[in-house]
Amino acid sequence: MLIVMNHNAGKKQIEAIIKAVERMGFAAAPIPGSERTAIGVLGNKGYVDDSTVLALPGVKEVIHVSKPYKLVSRDFHPRNTIVKVAGIEIGSGKRPVIMAGPCAVESEDQIMKTARAVKASGADMLRGGAFKPRTGPHTFQGMREEGLKLLSLASRESGLPFVTEVMSPDTVDMVAEYADVLQVGARNMQNFELLRELGKIKKPILLKRGMSATIEEFLAAAEYILAEGNPGVILCERGIRTFETATRNTLDLAVIPLIKEMSHLPIMVDPSHATGRRSLVPPMAKAALVAGADGLMLEVHPDPEKALSDGPQSLTLQGFDKLMKELELLISFLGS
Ligand code: PEP
Ligand code: MN
Repeated sequence: MLIVMNHNAGKKQIEAIIKAVERMGFAAAPIPGSERTAIGVLGNKGYVDDSTVLALPGVKEVIHVSKPYKLVSRDFHPRNTIVKVAGIEIGSGKRPVIMAGPCAVESEDQIMKTARAVKASGADMLRGGAFKPRTGPHTFQGMREEGLKLLSLASRESGLPFVTEVMSPDTVDMVAEYADVLQVGARNMQNFELLRELGKIKKPILLKRGMSATIEEFLAAAEYILAEGNPGVILCERGIRTFETATRNTLDLAVIPLIKEMSHLPIMVDPSHATGRRSLVPPMAKAALVAGADGLMLEVHPDPEKALSDGPQSLTLQGFDKLMKELELLISFLGS
């Protein structure tokens, strides 16, 4: 439930509403706006009788929100959230942020080479998995803490902040010690214990859409993180599973403008996992920016043929450099 105050409602009236909401057994979250204040009611499971609140002075109207998310919705927070990572702004609407790097950290040489190259080509952030959620247990599972150390080294040397995946609640503290942004992978989008732990830390979270998640489920997953007190969530569309098997997933680009209508959170696109094919990554990266994405996450490997995971969808260093030049043109066109 959202209580919208009259534009001239004073502090005392707002405080009285908060007290009334608390007396009803719920939490109140005031959202000051440029025109008026709204007060979000949190903790209700179903419809709430609004007659008590409506009778109080200063109340303009009460909007019943039947969705499983509130804090992430635009009704609650009309202005865009801008997530800041080491001086980089994600969601400002000014310049899309490019995160690039290998699917997995494999060696010092591999991550250093990639970091240097993507930095030289103009990437804003480095990506790389140290904990890998692989479909089967007999494939490469990642270098774990050793991988985090190599990412830190590559990050320090290149000057690029880095994002890496965290897979379980018990490794959140360890990953947060190293990473600038913690990624929740598609397979963990509904790992609610993990989301809750991530809500308690102070670092930004990149939340990938589950491969069969609806938009409502995606936003409800983000709500878990915000509800625990961490407002720094970046959403990431990475393709969903459909009847089509020619591409690894089906890139759902309409969610970009749709999520921007529904939520104030930034949203990025990962065309690498969405398509599974190197040749499809550049056109879909461009399409994502045209659709309004706040950034891109791209897999890049110095020798994709030898990659321990996701080689077929990884751009070469040269391929990434070429794409960045093309994106630069597109970005200046879109911004003009
Ligand atoms: C990844 O980004 O490395 C990854 C595993 O992606 P997803 O969770 O989208 O499959
Ligand atoms: Mn991958």
